[in-house]
Amino acid sequence: MTKVLAALHALPHGLAVGVARSVVDDARARLEAGETVTEESVLADASRRALEIGRSLLQPVVNATGVIVHTNLGRAPLGSAPLAAVAEVAAGYSNLEFRLDRGTRGSRQEHAGALLARACGAEAALVVNNNAAAVLLVLAALARGREVIVSRGELVEIGGGFRVPDVMAESGARLVEVGTTNRTRRADYERGLSADTALILRVHASNYRMIGFVESAPVAELAAVGPPVVVDIGSGLLDETTPWLAERPSWLRDEPGARQCLDAGAALVTFSGDKLLGGPQAGVIAGRADLVAAVARHPLARAVRADKMALAALQSVALAYLAGDGDAIPLWRMAATPLAALRERAEAMAGRIPGAKVVDTEAVAGGGSLPGLTIPSCGLSVEVADADAALTRLRTLGIVARVDAGAIVCDLRTVDPSDDPRLAAGLASLAP
Ligand SMILES: *Cc1c(COP(=O)(O)O)cnc(C)c1O
Repeated sequence: MTKVLAALHALPHGLAVGVARSVVDDARARLEAGETVTEESVLADASRRALEIGRSLLQPVVNATGVIVHTNLGRAPLGSAPLAAVAEVAAGYSNLEFRLDRGTRGSRQEHAGALLARACGAEAALVVNNNAAAVLLVLAALARGREVIVSRGELVEIGGGFRVPDVMAESGARLVEVGTTNRTRRADYERGLSADTALILRVHASNYRMIGFVESAPVAELAAVGPPVVVDIGSGLLDETTPWLAERPSWLRDEPGARQCLDAGAALVTFSGDKLLGGPQAGVIAGRADLVAAVARHPLARAVRADKMALAALQSVALAYLAGDGDAIPLWRMAATPLAALRERAEAMAGRIPGAKVVDTEAVAGGGSLPGLTIPSCGLSVEVADADAALTRLRTLGIVARVDAGAIVCDLRTVDPSDDPRLAAGLASLAP
């Protein structure tokens, strides 16, 4: 009884009453159907439903999957500085659209947008709600009623229903497909040109990889064709040389950087805020000032604009990049953690968990970036009788792990060290 009351009391009164009513209604229906209903079964039902509601609330979890940018688990974690910036800016009033020097109306793009432009060597940048919105807005603003040339190899689906041909149709731009699935050359783009061509669009195939007889024209060659080139790089790697890290990670090999695309002649790049950029959900449109201004003037820009909390977090992330401080960005901190440090944590935890072994694992960047390239990692493996039941039990404790050959495997690269005790306690509780 006290457990049930505790579960119900954790809910706001209205929700608790709703649970109580539905439990009583069900018990009555079962009685009327001639089933036996005990007080314990009704109380157990109430407790289960109250806990289910609690579990359905948005809450932190331990990501032991080894997928760094895990879309279902909220993509990139935010660092303490961006979080503090959000709290400070959002708790009160701010100069979101106000020029403190002149006392006049300002633009919400003067903070994070301007800093991100500087961080990737663009003339200007505009921040919107997410990268899907960024691509849609660029196409609507610069190519509505006109033609956009895209390689047949880049008519991709990114996931969550973002399909390049559909986004193109929604924007009002006309898709002109050129080349073939595996090979598209500069001459193919040139053949696709017409008096109506507004843009050439290059979409990074974030979530799959083609190998073998493949060819695609480099951005520099596309830029020589004529119309402005827009590159949807997706993940938001600002600079392929990663000056914010002591060493450039080898698994970043094929990931296009915003700075390099712009240097090669792209007029605009678009990317997400919460993939490899390591910030909040956002989309960034960076490049030529005249085009960014034209995009910002389009009526859709208002519908997809970023809110002050995302802008506060993004500004802080942009400042970390400008300071060359990759350590301030949890995503890069996790990605760059030496294997030996992960192994040391795994060994310390294994001693406290019955049946646990330290194992080599492979983490991935995730979030549709870098398919096929893994990051050497380390974690724990725990033998269990029923792997599915163990995964379910861990989830009730807010721990998301994976199963490999019937054992529970937790990758420590994506676990914040401050969560190690919670993870160890969860794994220890699996012991029979
Ligand atoms: C992830 C991705 C998108 C969608 O970005 P969101 O920020 O999730 O809206 C679009 N294009 C590419 C190439 C991507 O990788």
